[in-house]
Amino acid sequence: MKKPLIELTEAGIYCRAGDFYIDPHKPVARALVTHGHADHARAGHSHVMASPQTLDIMAIRYGEDFCVTQQAGGRDSVQVGDVSVRFIPAGHVLGSCQIVIEGQGRRDIVSGDYSRVANAACAAFEPMPCDLFVTEATFALPVFRHPDPAGEIAQLLASVDAFPERAHIIGAYALGKAQRVIILLRQAGYDAPIYIHGALQKLCDYHKDQGIALGELRSASLERAQARALRGAIVLSPPSAFGTAWVQRFAEPVIAFASGWMQIRAHARRRGVELPLVISDHVDWPDLTRTIEEVDPQEVWITHGREEALMRWAELEGRKARPLHIAGYDEEPE
Ligand SMILES: [Zn+2]
Ligand SMILES: [Zn+2]
Repeated sequence: MKKPLIELTEAGIYCRAGDFYIDPHKPVARALVTHGHADHARAGHSHVMASPQTLDIMAIRYGEDFCVTQQAGGRDSVQVGDVSVRFIPAGHVLGSCQIVIEGQGRRDIVSGDYSRVANAACAAFEPMPCDLFVTEATFALPVFRHPDPAGEIAQLLASVDAFPERAHIIGAYALGKAQRVIILLRQAGYDAPIYIHGALQKLCDYHKDQGIALGELRSASLERAQARALRGAIVLSPPSAFGTAWVQRFAEPVIAFASGWMQIRAHARRRGVELPLVISDHVDWPDLTRTIEEVDPQEVWITHGREEALMRWAELEGRKARPLHIAGYDEEPE
């Protein structure tokens, strides 16, 4: 078997035959980007190739001039240097893709972040057999089993019913999680207006532009008197706003947080979360191991921490496994 088409360098994963980096964490001449989360999509590269939605999201976050030249990637193979590349769905957030690299008789896939749970904001993860699979390991411990998100939303709605005099403020990251919570609420039949913090506005607007129905959204940038009047309302906020004066404008709010980390009750307590909602855009342990069996690589490279359990599991399955220890991925928005 020939050597992998990618290698690990100081700036991140590099493909020498194509002379490009994937999700580099330093500015480079040519970057291929899996999705718009800040730890994968950084500003300052000369040339960026990504899905059309990821390019749009980077422009929303960093300004139209986030790179010098850009190129949309999709499912059709494009020659880059001596390899061909294509982008296939990863099921993580709007625009998220796995990057498939083919050449020298082999196929290597960098999956970025991914999920196997249905998400109306993006196309479902597409398993494709490969020789080398680079996987995230955000929730790579057997203890991580994400519950059905509909059940978490049912708990939220039960709390709204039980405390009609209190606003429910839900912490959710701006790209992906916020829209996912809104979609899940709509799927559960909640049709009242949902209030959103100003930091979520542009990315919610972009989802609507892309044809993703979010229902009626209203601004939660309110004066104290208006905020106090929002009894029984659902308000979405970036978690970073929890500690600010903005939260105190609401009357006795119920603080909720939508994250895979909410399975660990100590995380919830540390953040002062009264209502933890275990809703994740990443694979849990059963989906992670099932995915590796499906794509059936000889070799697995692991990013995003918590590598050891997955290393051991892969080796027991007869696959080579390597932790990448890439810096900067540990603050994964989730
Ligand atoms: Zn991500
Ligand atoms: Zn990530």
